[in-house]
Amino acid sequence: MTIRLAAPLQSDSVVDGEGIRTVIWTQGCAHACPFCHNPLTHDFKGGFEEDLDTLKKQIDSLEGQTGITFSGGDPLYQIDAVLELAKYINKNRKDLNIWCYSGFTYEEILKMPKGKELLSNIDILVDGLFEIDKRSLDLPFRGSSNQRIIQAKKSVASNKIILNEELMKPKDISPLYKKDDKIYI
Ligand code: SF4
Repeated sequence: MTIRLAAPLQSDSVVDGEGIRTVIWTQGCAHACPFCHNPLTHDFKGGFEEDLDTLKKQIDSLEGQTGITFSGGDPLYQIDAVLELAKYINKNRKDLNIWCYSGFTYEEILKMPKGKELLSNIDILVDGLFEIDKRSLDLPFRGSSNQRIIQAKKSVASNKIILNEELMKPKDISPLYKKDDKIYI
């Protein structure tokens, strides 16, 4: 199986979830949020195809990382490949937790074929569209206040949405991250 990526695996990110993370940048998104931070990832024919076996080998060799984050683009458009990778990480790299960003909500993902299975295999889902009128630069790991930081595995297991309350709290984020009015989501 292959996955369409926007960029090679990127390690040592501190803005795409808690800790030091490796990001898998998926290519393709049809949500068209106004003022999206990453429009180059929208084209479903853009980026490049990567073999999952190649990515698995790269994941095997990761060092000094807290976890892996699926971002994009929207990883949910490639749910089969993302699910296979998430299962692989859970089985072979138990030291790495998994975050996933999506413009789809938790409730929408639950209704997708394999959506529940995916949610059961990721630790944190940051869900929802980026909404410019709800934008805040003081929200860690999300761009607008409608987005939720959800403990995905735990939510599926208990049949109700369990937020990560600590991470949902606004923080006084370093002015460095606000430079040039950039949005980090
Ligand atoms: S879901 Fe994310 S990548 Fe897609 S348009 Fe919205 S902000 Fe951009």
